[in-house]
Amino acid sequence: GQDPRIPKIASSIRVIPDFPKPGIMFQDITTLLLDTEAFKDTIDIFVERYKGKGISVVAGVEARGFIFGPPIALAIGAKFVPMRKPKKLPGKVISEEYSLEYGTDKIEMHVGAVEPGERAIIIDDLIATGGTLAAAIRLLERVGVKIVECACVIELPELNGREKLGEAPLFILVTSD
Ligand code: AMP
Repeated sequence: GQDPRIPKIASSIRVIPDFPKPGIMFQDITTLLLDTEAFKDTIDIFVERYKGKGISVVAGVEARGFIFGPPIALAIGAKFVPMRKPKKLPGKVISEEYSLEYGTDKIEMHVGAVEPGERAIIIDDLIATGGTLAAAIRLLERVGVKIVECACVIELPELNGREKLGEAPLFILVTSD
């Protein structure tokens, strides 16, 4: 059966229609962060899943992957690697482009943050089209890192984002349709 902690996590997420533009149902995780039990349960579920699996890298996608990733990294004894929007990281970077509805975007990672052969999970708050996570996977795979799994709090299943992730499995807590 389903983890009994999930319904409370699901109901702590606020949905704001038409943000940031008409037609988008914005899944707002800031209300999850205000609920001390739901926030703790969210982190605990990920930690229980990934502890002791030989994972040395938790890669978090800007911006909300920076909220969920670090507590998971600390608890499983892994390093946290930020995957950032362009021109934020000060050192030498490698980058991956991905397409948006109109145009393209990019994520960047510091050279030397990870080493070939390391095992990683990639964390974000939500998967929609899967374009962001697919770019994060390509970035890490280019430097020889094994993606054990992608993990998100929320999946919007109608957009079939998981099909973009190739071999990498996807673990989610809440489905929103
Ligand atoms: P995608 O690359 O299409 O899978 O989009 C995922 C990224 O966009 C994540 O970093 C999410 O935080 C953000 N995002 C996309 N759709 C939504 C939504 N409906 N509510 C909140 N965040 C979203």
